[in-house]
Amino acid sequence: MKLTIVYDNDAGEGLKCGWGFACLIETESNNILFDTGWDGHLLLENMEKLAIDPQNIDTLVLSHQHWDHIGGVTTFLNINPDVDVYVPSGFSPRLKKEITSRIKRKLYGVASPQEICDKIYTTGELEKKGTGIKEHSLILECDSGNYVLTGCAHPGLLLILEAASSFGKMDGIIGGLHDSQEYGSFKDMQLIGAGHCTSHKDVIRKMYPEKFRKIFAGYSIEL
Ligand SMILES: [Zn+2]
Ligand SMILES: [Zn+2]
Repeated sequence: MKLTIVYDNDAGEGLKCGWGFACLIETESNNILFDTGWDGHLLLENMEKLAIDPQNIDTLVLSHQHWDHIGGVTTFLNINPDVDVYVPSGFSPRLKKEITSRIKRKLYGVASPQEICDKIYTTGELEKKGTGIKEHSLILECDSGNYVLTGCAHPGLLLILEAASSFGKMDGIIGGLHDSQEYGSFKDMQLIGAGHCTSHKDVIRKMYPEKFRKIFAGYSIEL
């Protein structure tokens, strides 16, 4: 399974950065776009530079309803409406209707943990009490282990990892980790790819220098 960060607050050479997150997951059977960043044109520009054809994407997963993750949705769907779309079930009903009217396939509201496609699962919709932010993360079942892919990790690492643990032991985490300070959660992991909104990157890097990976638009890894 191959992961490529397409949109992030930081960018590698030749790519553009912007506040937001998007990641392409390529498996043997599917090409999944996880989030779209804010600026759809920047998303498509970065895809072109990375030789990613948006028409080859068959599944779009939106982690949560924040501007920096869903801003690029309309631009992307104008290029490729032939996708299944997965959103937390608590998404705005109007937004679900708008997306449904633009796609040729189906929109799924995710409530509980389930398989999305072969070797890709969702934690189901999670919410840290009182925040009102509903978000789901993905679990990637790879040859080298199980990995969690997060958008902003608003529900908090403990809740996310508890939900993910129903799919087995997690060997790594990639994505935005927000202001998470539950550093002990990384202890048994092999890889911490902290990007996007992660507030405490430096602390995590100092604690786990061998496991830490700085991620950015253009970063790619085989798992
Ligand atoms: Zn967010
Ligand atoms: Zn975010």
